[in-house]
Amino acid sequence: MSYKKTITLILFTMSMFYGKSQQNYPTDYFQKPLNIPLILAGTFGELRTNHFHSGLDFKTQQKEGFDVLASAEGYVSRIKISHWGYGKAIYITHPNGYTTVYGHLKKFNKTIESYIKAKQYQKESFEIQVFPKPHELLVKKGEMIALSGATGGYVGPHLHFEIRNTITEKPINPLLFGFKIKDSRAPQINVLMGYPLSDDAQINQYNAPIKLNYKKMASGVLLADKIQASGFISFGVNTFDRQDDAWNKNGIYNLKMLLNDALVYEHEVASFSFAKSRQLNLLIDYERYKDLNQRVQRCYITPKNELSIYKTSVNKGQLYIEEGLTYTVKIIASDINGNKTTLQIPILGKKQAIVVPKKDLTTAYPIVAAGFNKFMLGDITIAFPKNTFYEDTFLDLNVKDSVAHIHKPIIPLHKKYTLTFDVSNFTPQQRKQLFIAKYSNKDEPFYVKTIKKELSFYTTSKDLGKHKLLIDDEKPTIQFLSFKNKQWISSKQALKVKITDEISGIKEYRGEINGQWILMEYSPKTKTLSYNFKDKKFTTAKHELKIVLIDNVGNKTVKTGVFNRKVTGE
Ligand SMILES: [Zn+2]
Repeated sequence: MSYKKTITLILFTMSMFYGKSQQNYPTDYFQKPLNIPLILAGTFGELRTNHFHSGLDFKTQQKEGFDVLASAEGYVSRIKISHWGYGKAIYITHPNGYTTVYGHLKKFNKTIESYIKAKQYQKESFEIQVFPKPHELLVKKGEMIALSGATGGYVGPHLHFEIRNTITEKPINPLLFGFKIKDSRAPQINVLMGYPLSDDAQINQYNAPIKLNYKKMASGVLLADKIQASGFISFGVNTFDRQDDAWNKNGIYNLKMLLNDALVYEHEVASFSFAKSRQLNLLIDYERYKDLNQRVQRCYITPKNELSIYKTSVNKGQLYIEEGLTYTVKIIASDINGNKTTLQIPILGKKQAIVVPKKDLTTAYPIVAAGFNKFMLGDITIAFPKNTFYEDTFLDLNVKDSVAHIHKPIIPLHKKYTLTFDVSNFTPQQRKQLFIAKYSNKDEPFYVKTIKKELSFYTTSKDLGKHKLLIDDEKPTIQFLSFKNKQWISSKQALKVKITDEISGIKEYRGEINGQWILMEYSPKTKTLSYNFKDKKFTTAKHELKIVLIDNVGNKTVKTGVFNRKVTGE
């Protein structure tokens, strides 16, 4: 074979490989993981806080307790139980190179439940993560592995389902594997934003981001009012997709931008890497999201954005508008079934005086993104490692009424920075109960992990905003819900205890019956611990329950009580 032919063959093979790689997923291998019709409460790649949604959320009729089925044969390769995140979750590794994940489960099937309970008793911890060996917990396709639930923080009942590449751990859109979801509705576009990008660029005399008007034509196409612009500009949209069987506003699959019918930008959420997921904050207009809680997806790629969702970008999606020329920009939002909504923007190239300039961000605290930036404000030191910021900027820093204002949380951070408080003005007793609190969106302070060195306390964070030192001088509280002291409770299935801590929050809890650790499941929603009496055989009638509760600064409460229970059979 000649040299030239070989090259052509290699190129041909490569283009086959790359061209096909997106559709190469087996479409009849996985069965649906629930025995009810699949209705989506959330799509893959949907924009969430600091990450893309890595699976599908299936609705479960606002109830718990539906059978969750293994999507294919394989083995349980991981079981994770956590108060937050996916709550109770199972990972199944399949022989074809994929792993499926099932989250927010209520409980596992008998085999898995007794396997994990033994481990929990061994570790004396409700929260646990184990990686069973390939021969330990085999499952068949369609086997009931768990009941659907609502575990993991404040989520409602639903099943979170993922398909990952077992080796790379990259999640892949499960809808590429042949699951059928009725969807004949096109995505909706809610907001159109214009972004002048260069210093001299303008859209309708704005050098700042500008919201643009459009209306729906009889054809269904959205038509924007003609804009006048010049220089480098781009656009962004807030958009969602609704499937046929529910009103949930889910994410779209594909977003394109065309300039005079030539594709200049395209992204698609087929797969992504968890390591890069946080860069979602570069895809969206982050400041607008923080100000208005509205996510606008930008049709241009900012520097430092390494997301792999981009399929096409000419000049990174930046459009150059020249004086005197006319252009048509089309933005097309599609769902995975190919339903589309098109928004058309007519543009006239015209250079005018800028009436609304970009916000002047200049302050006394400049940030050089590539460098180490450290600032001291009275008793507070703020240190930003190299590349904490995606771009150079300015910060607004001040301390008012002992609240440290570390700018506003409107700039996305790539890494954690360190915030240190000098606590030498506090007494040793105060220092014991002192912690760093951060203010939530609702302006309520909450505990953040405080690392205590003798005279300085610090925390690390990926969010800017308000922080303050607070004292927690209150002990956590324990309330026995299932019995009064010395009561007989033979018919009760479970023992419930309410635990609360108002200021710094609960750090750890421990439950014992007659001096032995018992598995108590904590629900953040109801703030209750519950123990299942089936876990233990009772050979005497009288028992002592002891709960030890410690809050985040170390305040401790111990409560004991006696209950009686009929002796269970041999
Ligand atoms: Zn989910």
